[in-house]
Amino acid sequence: MNFTDTHTHLYVEEFDDDRNQVIQQAVNNGVTKMLLPNIDGASLEAMHNLVSAFPENCFPMMGLHPTSVNEDFEKELTLVESELKKNSLYIGVGEIGTDLYWDETYREEQTEAFRRQLQLAKKYRLPVSIHTRNSFALTLKLVQEELTDDLKGVFHCFTGTESEAKMIMDTGFKMGIGGIVTFKNSGLDKVVAQLPLDQLVLETDAPYLTPVPYRGKRNQSAYLIYVAEKLATVQNKSLEEVAETTTNTVNQLFFNRN
Ligand SMILES: [Zn+2]
Repeated sequence: MNFTDTHTHLYVEEFDDDRNQVIQQAVNNGVTKMLLPNIDGASLEAMHNLVSAFPENCFPMMGLHPTSVNEDFEKELTLVESELKKNSLYIGVGEIGTDLYWDETYREEQTEAFRRQLQLAKKYRLPVSIHTRNSFALTLKLVQEELTDDLKGVFHCFTGTESEAKMIMDTGFKMGIGGIVTFKNSGLDKVVAQLPLDQLVLETDAPYLTPVPYRGKRNQSAYLIYVAEKLATVQNKSLEEVAETTTNTVNQLFFNRN
């Protein structure tokens, strides 16, 4: 069985002491592909170092994270585009989106940066990894406004309702399911139980959102297996079927093959 962690930040400093073992543990658990969304210009070099060390397993995306958007975002967007233009290694544009959880100071800038990166994704024909926090309506509206046959991707870390899931599926986007589905009282398990398996992909968002039984500790891609097992349980399907269906979806979306 093979799995893909569609959203993992293994290049951040939390993994500086044991990054190679972390990758090895993931591969040992069948998590053979790890998709790395970028954060901003400051994270780029570390991400590329990881991809160079594990080119068979680690695949980078290029993008500016909404919480890194400030008055200087034009400079960052210039970097995003120059990277997409020169580097064919990128398998997606991410992570991009809007985040109004901490504050709304850069709401306008976040909106503009997100819209422009959706346009870049269409221009370079790449899928997107979307972050949204306390901003689902705004994020969805921007996706709908930019929607064409060329725009596809994942709403990463989906934690919404069934009706929000329906709105996402209506755009043709998939939903990334992570550790929160294993949390008692999150309610996400009941929502996810109702969704078609072929609309879902797996993710850890490491080092954050660690699934049970390691909740509270540092997350890593090997723990994707606990998310996959929970998904199999709530969907009343075998782990094999979860592995196969989610891997097919990932391959269609990010690797353009079946
Ligand atoms: Zn992320």
